[in-house]
Amino acid sequence: MSASGSHYENKHRGQKKHGFKSYADFNFFTRKRLLKLGSLQYMKCLMIVLVINLLVFLYLIYAHNLFSLDQYVLSANGASQYYREDAQHLLLAKEVTVIIREFEDFENRVNKTVKNFKWISPFMTVIIVADNIPYPPMAVNFSQTVRFVNLQLHPMLENPTDTLKRMITTPYTLFIPDGTNITRSYALLQAVRNMKTRKLIKALAIPIGYEKLTCPGMDVHLRSWSVDFTNFVGGEGMCDYVQGSHALLMSTSDLFQLTSPFERPLYVSLYMQLTLRRWKTGIYTGEVFTPKTIFKNFKSEWKHKHMEELRLESTMKKFEIKKVSYDKQKVIYYGCTKETERCFGTVVNSMPEFLYKGKWTPPCCLKAVRETARHVFNMLNKCSARYWLEGGSLLGAARQKDIIPWDYDVDIGVYREDLDYCKQFVTLKEKGSFTDEAGFHWEKATEGEFFRIHYSVVNRNHVDIFPFYSKSGIMTKNTWFKTHRQDTEFPEHYLKPLTKVEFIGMNVSAPNNIRQFLEYKFGKGVIENPRFPNSEMVVGG
Ligand code: ZN
Repeated sequence: MSASGSHYENKHRGQKKHGFKSYADFNFFTRKRLLKLGSLQYMKCLMIVLVINLLVFLYLIYAHNLFSLDQYVLSANGASQYYREDAQHLLLAKEVTVIIREFEDFENRVNKTVKNFKWISPFMTVIIVADNIPYPPMAVNFSQTVRFVNLQLHPMLENPTDTLKRMITTPYTLFIPDGTNITRSYALLQAVRNMKTRKLIKALAIPIGYEKLTCPGMDVHLRSWSVDFTNFVGGEGMCDYVQGSHALLMSTSDLFQLTSPFERPLYVSLYMQLTLRRWKTGIYTGEVFTPKTIFKNFKSEWKHKHMEELRLESTMKKFEIKKVSYDKQKVIYYGCTKETERCFGTVVNSMPEFLYKGKWTPPCCLKAVRETARHVFNMLNKCSARYWLEGGSLLGAARQKDIIPWDYDVDIGVYREDLDYCKQFVTLKEKGSFTDEAGFHWEKATEGEFFRIHYSVVNRNHVDIFPFYSKSGIMTKNTWFKTHRQDTEFPEHYLKPLTKVEFIGMNVSAPNNIRQFLEYKFGKGVIENPRFPNSEMVVGG
């Protein structure tokens, strides 16, 4: 029972264990099992290979992303400090292109500046922009990310601005002056983030070193060819102009909307263009850059300042700015001088060329006319000739104690019989013309019986003196300008007595009852209603 039982059990167990009843059976089973075992190992191998492949694949994606940056930056936010620092410069390279525009050929540290930026952020593009190929040549190692653009137009090459448009692929562009070092990528990235949050500004001024940036007001008046700086210091958020050493960050698309984005002196030119568009600049307060000394001696420094002035002059000419005033105290004139010609040509049909452009009389010309007029008034006062302010000049005096902004000369009436009291007119009658000791040029007009005093022989800004005489109570003269409505006879009682009126900073002689006199000549309400001459002909006026 036990044996059979055991056999049974054995058999049963055997069957259970192996499941074969014969050798053939066994053989078949083993082969199958071995096969099964083999496929398992094969699968394992396959899995390992697949996992390795997957890991390689993932690594490649990861490695690829090192250069495409997106993934890297996403992972960087939660990653370790090491990765964070590493990621900042990569993100920076994707956000900002650096432009070095302000440097001198004769002495600069552009090479060191580029090296510093590439050291801190190796993938960031740095573009050196110049008006010509620098000479002596710079020792910069140019590469895919260190570029040079020559703004000089070359008849065989594309427009350099188009080249720059293609080259700058980042959403932001940063202008840095030569001699600027960057502290950390992270610091500049913070500034970029700051700019992104300030929707009202179009540019961000980032101080270099501990420079305290100020924010004077700036008004650009194209019509009167002038720029006015005021001492008003605006809030850090809304500047027209920023004073002090700084870098300037702008959105690349905004930058290329400007007329001349790379004109030097860069900041004067940029802020003028920004202000004209009512675009404001913000001031950033973080520490991003440190200053480095560029010029080794005073001579270089002086040469730099001189070049800067020359560039400023040429920019002002390009933008048609002829007067810059600093808080109404210091005034700098660009444009015509005693040594240069008047900056507008001969006036045809009493409509000077600038009026066609919708502009008023250039400030340098108004200044020249004022100076000439003061000189003439002083002379007339000295020789006691009876004179009075005439026509448009008297109208200007009544309106604003000054020349009308679009007028271009000063007209004075004088009693003809008083001319002999003044030696200048006696000389004119003899010689026809002369230049006085102050450089003003006197002429007897060829167009008729009147006198013209020019600012100088070359600069023909002038004052006209018209001799009148009384004819049975009516003031008349021998030469008339048909195009001038105000050029008419008038009752002598307006000159009896003569009065005084304030004009260009002087008290000058004028007819009595100025309002009535002007309305007699020009028509009713002429003082209150300024009329721009031939306004329908003005382009863009
Ligand atoms: Zn002028």
